[in-house]
Amino acid sequence: MSVMPRPSVLSVEPYVGGESKVPGVNRVIKLSSNEGAFGPPPGAIQAIAEAAKEAHRYPDGGATALREAIGARFGLDPARIVCGNGSDEILAMLILAYGGEGTELVMSAHGFMMYDLTGRWAGCRVIKVPEKNLTADVDGLLAAVGPRTRLMFLANPNNPTGSILPQSEMERLRRNLREDVLLVLDSAYAEYVTRPDYDAGAKLVDAGGGNTVMTRTFSKIYGLGGMRLGWCYAPPAIVDVLGRVRGPFNVNSAAMVAGIAALSEPGWVEKSVAHNTEWRGKVTDALTAAGLKVWPSEGNFVLVDFGDAARAKAADAHLRSRGLIVRAMGGYGLAQTLRVTIGTAEECTLVVEALTEFARGR
Ligand code: PMP
Repeated sequence: MSVMPRPSVLSVEPYVGGESKVPGVNRVIKLSSNEGAFGPPPGAIQAIAEAAKEAHRYPDGGATALREAIGARFGLDPARIVCGNGSDEILAMLILAYGGEGTELVMSAHGFMMYDLTGRWAGCRVIKVPEKNLTADVDGLLAAVGPRTRLMFLANPNNPTGSILPQSEMERLRRNLREDVLLVLDSAYAEYVTRPDYDAGAKLVDAGGGNTVMTRTFSKIYGLGGMRLGWCYAPPAIVDVLGRVRGPFNVNSAAMVAGIAALSEPGWVEKSVAHNTEWRGKVTDALTAAGLKVWPSEGNFVLVDFGDAARAKAADAHLRSRGLIVRAMGGYGLAQTLRVTIGTAEECTLVVEALTEFARGR
């Protein structure tokens, strides 16, 4: 006899991410994890160095100063904010508290992978709802809710498709969802959205029902992926539940001060959004002109569609030989695509050149 985990755990493949080396290539350009194009905000770097001097102290378990800074920045009540070791941890806490064996979790077919993996860790049955044009289908999501459904996850904009639902559709989803199903609106890429008919989710959390949570991250626009910092805004009863399943010191001291500094870095978000909008457009246009299909994106990445898996694989190899790491999407059932993060102007130019070369068969 040997020790065995719950069977659902063995159904999950270990997550591989953050790869930053290509054998035989000296200079690697990493455009595979949707990290911020400009690195960490300078104020955050300084704050992390300061925090190191107090590294022997446990952090503030309640993350009070950070929650206050987030509240002030976004116009939200700090008492309704919970912070996590990345928003991944918040997703996991919600699944731990509301899901588990015998329950169902509903998500869009190409929704963010961690909903599926974390759901399976916890023993939930994960239901993936077909999309229309790689966009979440509200009617399909609602129809998938059954007696055992306890959780629904939706990233808006979605990673990896880049697609978005307008506010009217999000409202329709919330209004028609059974109130004993927790709706998790993952707004990791909210800052990058340029469409006017969009709200990151706070309005939906407060619209009633008490079953909606908005999650956010410092890993994308705030350039702090390595600090692992995320947060959510939730109704009071859900904040109470999260307090019960949260580890005692789940956010480390460096992450907390880095987050606070990032929020007050002058012009950071504006500069990052302007850059992303410009280069997301330029990359999309250039690759389209080269004959490639690029799915419209509201995030800091684009999904490039090569039509079939073999061609996508060849394109990936071509990029790697030039030190360009992008994300192959086979794990999402999108093996015909590669996801390319919008990096600096130079990085975008290099990836466009390499893919144009590939598309022209050179
Ligand atoms: N949600 C979505 C949609 C994401 O793309 C990501 C990052 N890949 C996350 C959540 C997790 O972000 P974090 O770094 O805050 O855990």
